[in-house]
Amino acid sequence: MELAQRLVLLALLLAVSSPCKFIQSPMDFGPLNVVPPTTTKASSDFGRLSFGTPCAVLKPNSAEDISLLLARLSSSAAAAAFGGRVTVAARGAGHSIHGQAQAPDGIVVEMGSLPPSIEVRRGPLLSYADVGGGAMWSEVLEETLKLGLAPRSWTDYLHLTVGGTLSNAGIGGQAFKHGPQISNVLQLDVVTGKGELVTCSPAETPELFYAVLGGLGQFGIITRARIALQEAPHKVRWARAFYDDFRTFTGDQELLISMPEMVDYVEGFVVLSEHSLHGSSNAFPAHVGFIAELRKDRSRIYYCIEFAVHDYQRRETNVEQVMEKISRKMRYMGSHMYSVEVSYFDFLNRVTMEEATLRSRGLWEVPHPWLNFFVPKSGINEFKDLLWDYVSPEDFMGPVLIYPLLRDKWNTNTSAVFPETGVSDRVVYVVGILRSTNPNTCSLQCVRDLLRHNRELAEAAGEPRIGAKQYLGRHPSPGHWQDHFGSKWGRFASHKARFDPLSILGPGQGIFPRSA
Ligand code: FAD
Repeated sequence: MELAQRLVLLALLLAVSSPCKFIQSPMDFGPLNVVPPTTTKASSDFGRLSFGTPCAVLKPNSAEDISLLLARLSSSAAAAAFGGRVTVAARGAGHSIHGQAQAPDGIVVEMGSLPPSIEVRRGPLLSYADVGGGAMWSEVLEETLKLGLAPRSWTDYLHLTVGGTLSNAGIGGQAFKHGPQISNVLQLDVVTGKGELVTCSPAETPELFYAVLGGLGQFGIITRARIALQEAPHKVRWARAFYDDFRTFTGDQELLISMPEMVDYVEGFVVLSEHSLHGSSNAFPAHVGFIAELRKDRSRIYYCIEFAVHDYQRRETNVEQVMEKISRKMRYMGSHMYSVEVSYFDFLNRVTMEEATLRSRGLWEVPHPWLNFFVPKSGINEFKDLLWDYVSPEDFMGPVLIYPLLRDKWNTNTSAVFPETGVSDRVVYVVGILRSTNPNTCSLQCVRDLLRHNRELAEAAGEPRIGAKQYLGRHPSPGHWQDHFGSKWGRFASHKARFDPLSILGPGQGIFPRSA
């Protein structure tokens, strides 16, 4: 379709006074693929806690479609026509918890509609993949593995989009070694809130590049990302070691991350009950041996470190010897270290197996009052004590993850927020309290109570003596967001004024109220 024709259609869109009126004549916008929301997909997300129906959904065919939409919406004519009320949210896979990818009475841009585009380049010094902002990480993995390559840093779950995780940070067990996903991006194509299509990098328009990384969808829509790649291992030796003492558990995690030349992945979780192990027992049958230990004393809380060593096969390294060397330094309980060898793909894709189990039990599409934190090392023991006031083995369903990251792997120029207290702590812990609720046993009131408890826990954890910052959180008011950003607020707000001055983008985060 011709650009001029599209502009005419957009003008029709802008001619109505109410932002939602145009959905009554969807044909007006059909060629631009602006359609009324026909499913609940655009109105909800993985959290199932917030529901906001948009006026329309844009199914873009190209970055230019997104640019056109935003350019027109940010024009003064649009501001006059809509009274400055139309907002736009990019929706990746919709795996947010609190409506962050929603645009109530606005327009949701379905990034999955962009043609899938993943181009892999193997270079003598640097290999990378150019991937569309709506591509899933699972697709990136499949494509890059064809050339024996893979991104360096991963999230635990791969059915998330590149644009979605780069708008937050993208963390997982490789982040201690390679930094979060936002530390592994070389270049971006971004459509700003003004509709400008900009290619940016650390050398080219760096302000936009760093603003968008961890920028919560506030400054622009990522339509392409250049992701750094490394040689992919053939197999992975994946180990789990069990602990009955928190300080020994964190001590060993810190030991593991101090050996990046041997260790490729480190995470960990709280073993609240046998259920904490069942989810992944298909993928990891070896540790069922630990269940007998658990049954001996059900009142105790145990901890499990998960770590992995890559096996490149063609290289000289003997992975068994490396594992032996590592495990000799660790202080886990008795003989309770178990390991399996799996393909690299299966290792990275491990949560998909848990998803299948939960789906089969009707426990995937349920409310998820999740809470994630970055906790400085100096506050982690106190945080752990606080946690038991809010999490009890009797009724908690889901994992509680605890694992360390290294502060110096985070680029402070990005918009991502990291704890400001304990800056002398090189180690910062991720704590993910990933609760699922069973609708048969937890009513609406019960979910509300859990959300209230989450707010209380977040408040207590944010006190200076612990100094935690939320990750992936949605704060209740612009004032709370300012507290969250701390010293980074001024820069974040000035980026907003520069790249999305009418506050069109990212309404679901609730950071900037929309202005005309
Ligand atoms: P969406 O939920 O669709 O969007 C999230 C935000 O990003 C919204 O504000 C949206 O407007 C914005 N956005 C989306 N696409 C773009 C774009 N192209 N350009 C600009 N802004 C955009 N996170 C981790 O870091 N590590 C993990 O291990 C991890 N595991 C997870 C496991 C599960 C089962 C789930 C449900 C989530 C997990 N997450 C994890 C959280 C996840 O990274 C974030 O929720 C992420 O935003 C999800 O990506 P998405 O594509 O679903 O984004």
